[in-house]
Amino acid sequence: MTAVPRSFRSGLRRLSSWRGWSLWVLLGVIVVALLVTLVYLAARYEASVAQANVERDVADALSDIRSAMTRNVQELQALQSGRADLDRWQPEAERLLREHRDWVRLERRGPGLELVAEADTPYRPPVFARLGRANSLPEIQQACAGARRISGHAYARSHFVPQPDGLGLELMELCLPHVEAGRLLGFVVATYSLTDLLATHIGPQMGRSQEISFTEADGTRLAIHGLARRGRRVFTAQQLLDLPGNTMVLRMDSWRRSEPDLFPNVLTALVTVMSIALVTVLFTLGHDTRRRLRAEQDLADALAFRKAMEDSLVTGLRARDLQGHTTYVNPAFCQMVGFSPEELLGQGSPAPYWPPERADEYRQRQQVRLAGRNAPPREGFESVFMHKDGTRFPVLIIEAPLINAQGLQTGWMSAVLDISEQRRVEELSRASQERLQATARLATVGEMASLLSHELNQPLAAIASYAHGSMNLLQQNAPPAVELRLAMARIAEQADRAGRVIKSVHDFVRRRDQAREPVSARELVDAVLPLVNLQARKLRVRVEIRMADGLPSVLCDRTMVEQVLLNLARNAMQAMDDAHVAEPELVLEVRATTAGEGGRRWLAFSVADVGPGVAEEVKGQLFTPFFTTKVEGMGLGLSLCRTVVEQHGGSLVFEPNLPQGTIFRFTLPAQPDLKA
Ligand code: ADP
Repeated sequence: MTAVPRSFRSGLRRLSSWRGWSLWVLLGVIVVALLVTLVYLAARYEASVAQANVERDVADALSDIRSAMTRNVQELQALQSGRADLDRWQPEAERLLREHRDWVRLERRGPGLELVAEADTPYRPPVFARLGRANSLPEIQQACAGARRISGHAYARSHFVPQPDGLGLELMELCLPHVEAGRLLGFVVATYSLTDLLATHIGPQMGRSQEISFTEADGTRLAIHGLARRGRRVFTAQQLLDLPGNTMVLRMDSWRRSEPDLFPNVLTALVTVMSIALVTVLFTLGHDTRRRLRAEQDLADALAFRKAMEDSLVTGLRARDLQGHTTYVNPAFCQMVGFSPEELLGQGSPAPYWPPERADEYRQRQQVRLAGRNAPPREGFESVFMHKDGTRFPVLIIEAPLINAQGLQTGWMSAVLDISEQRRVEELSRASQERLQATARLATVGEMASLLSHELNQPLAAIASYAHGSMNLLQQNAPPAVELRLAMARIAEQADRAGRVIKSVHDFVRRRDQAREPVSARELVDAVLPLVNLQARKLRVRVEIRMADGLPSVLCDRTMVEQVLLNLARNAMQAMDDAHVAEPELVLEVRATTAGEGGRRWLAFSVADVGPGVAEEVKGQLFTPFFTTKVEGMGLGLSLCRTVVEQHGGSLVFEPNLPQGTIFRFTLPAQPDLKA
């Protein structure tokens, strides 16, 4: 994740956004295509329904016309049966004409087609009045010839007869032979007006936007009933009307106002609504997906950031679950212990980096930790780990509970610091400090060498004089035993004294034990007093010790603290001597205080002199190592004192001792339980 170059990632992002867009366009195209197909199919369906309707209508019309014509033929046959009685024929024919608007004329003709009787429709002026009936004779002949041939009614081809009003009528002759006992008696000829035929039998059932017509086989219109075209689309259906002697086409045209409506039926509307809903849902989904992608991107960035952070850390990180199995290690940790992540992940106890000799102790510690019985210290704890190559190294481990997103603890996260380098530096500084202190002590002793010789002079002189006296006594004949014993006792006493002086110096120089121990203030003061007195006697300084009873003990490194006391006392006496103070006086005081944080008890030491005080220009650098105002001084005393006191947790300060001199004060922590 981290190694992917930036340009490549942005390229990927562009590609995926381009893909996203193209997908959306594709989706839009599909939905639009679906809708268009649907509308088209619905329109086609509607057209087919309309077409079927027209077909049905024309079939109905045809059967209506057929049955009407058959009925007509029957009525004509009834007319014929009253055969020779012309008087009765005429009114009967006129009645029939009144009832049948589709006939324009009825004729009764003899066997040679000669006209016997005739009747015209009362609804029109006589049709043949203008051009005469003779023009229609061929059609009559055709019909009657057909009728005779088939011994039944027959029709002739239609013919056009112009009318006085400028229009004309398409007429069709029907001939019915009158045969009785195989003898032809005559014919009844009925003349149909095709237009009226349509109007009478079809007209009443026809829709407003329909038109019905008779046409010839080639499409020539013979008669029309209905309105002229209205609307843009026309549906046409045709049926053949085959009559004996004549065949015509019955044609029906039905107009629709426009294309089918956009929502011609519920299905289309439903599908459209659903499509819109689908697109809306898809858009919402897309929006959501985009948001999720963005969140994922942010998360990936955050993860990459975190990973980079972990990888750059020099602190080792290790996570363990509640069963003690390692679930995570960072590169720094792996480097520290020399194992690869694969060797560490999933490992329980003992972990491969535990030194075998400490595994038991660590296991117990881990059990306590996992049982949650004690919280790990915030400042961490020190431990020892083992590198893969077997070397042990000290580490500082800081542990914190691992809490998941639900707020449940899933394990422990530890930060591990390799502190071997820190330890090495500490060791080095401690060693050099020790060396410095030893040097300082030797220097102190060097400075005191003259004092020592002065101090040792007295017992040695006393020993010498006692020895001389004893020798003299021994030269007598009867040496007095009592006196000799006394002299010897004095010699031993003085030798003891000299030995003590030397031992005190020896002790001071050689004592090196570092351990902190509870020491009473009295012991501390008593330890340095012989050496202080040594110098005080030489410089004629009056030394005063002020100590209350029942002071608590001090938890300290006694050698160090003794040296602090000695250094301060020595500095004070030297300062007074250098300034030729008339009555030099040194006051060493120890008090108990409760000052400081948490009401903790402290022991406050002070060393006061009546010397010249610390010059203003010197104050700032008093504690700087190697700062001195003395010719033979080393300038290490005070700096060491401060280091020692601060190592114990206390502080070393100085202030003027009014009206004259300086007071050095330092504090050391009291041991609460042990009281002197
Ligand atoms: P050194 O004693 O070797 O000079 P120190 O660090 O002990 O080194 O002292 C540093 C300087 O502080 C001394 O040289 C002296 O000038 C000054 N000083 C220390 N104690 C006193 C004191 N009680 N009164 C005045 N000056 C002091």
